[in-house]
Amino acid sequence: MKLIAGNWKMFKGPRETREFCEAFRVPEGVDAVLCPPYVSLAAAVESGHTVFAQNVHWAEDGAFTGEVSAPMLRELGVAGAIVGHSERRQYFGETDETVARRIVAALEHGLRVIACVGESLEERQAGQMELVLRLQVEAIGDAAGAHEGLVVAYEPIWAIGTGETATPDQAREAHALIKGLLDVPVLYGGSVKTDNAAELLSQEGVDGALVGGASLDVESFTAICRAAANLSSS
Ligand code: PEP
Repeated sequence: MKLIAGNWKMFKGPRETREFCEAFRVPEGVDAVLCPPYVSLAAAVESGHTVFAQNVHWAEDGAFTGEVSAPMLRELGVAGAIVGHSERRQYFGETDETVARRIVAALEHGLRVIACVGESLEERQAGQMELVLRLQVEAIGDAAGAHEGLVVAYEPIWAIGTGETATPDQAREAHALIKGLLDVPVLYGGSVKTDNAAELLSQEGVDGALVGGASLDVESFTAICRAAANLSSS
């Protein structure tokens, strides 16, 4: 079964979250996950949908202003967390080391994890895509191994929120590389939309998608989930 996760980033407070969740029906045959901002997690959990946070701290508690721990998320009924999204790496100083610490703590506390990796345009153009992915994936693998709760998301930074997507060949190549380093399911992320979802999701080694912009609209997110469900059943 393919995993489709909607990363809402800093969109949708509790009211909009409730509206989305009431309207959203998960098509049969897909593992659909909603990732709202922290303040909307409770509203999403109450709807009965599967809910992940967008980050998680490594400590159980402590003097870490602005952070949220894995036991706190578990208490709320949250099932998992995204870790190491490129926006966290780019704007909030996330490193391979902090990503690894967050992943280990989350898995130890029974959360599922979507760990994000991906190269920038400059790195790809400089021929460093393989090196960058290797370093990022090895940092995750060395810390957590091929844990059953772990999924990696390949998100080329140049394709996030830009309308650019990796070609099917680029996605297949990157997913094969990642799977060769760490034997876990690998999601594709980067401008997945209703009109390109089926083609991307049907590539060998693409086990699902991490969807940003198109996950904010219930109809487009449902259509992407349906495309995944159809492929799982075919
Ligand atoms: C993301 O934020 O993980 C993402 C892939 O965004 P978008 O689908 O908008 O490119």
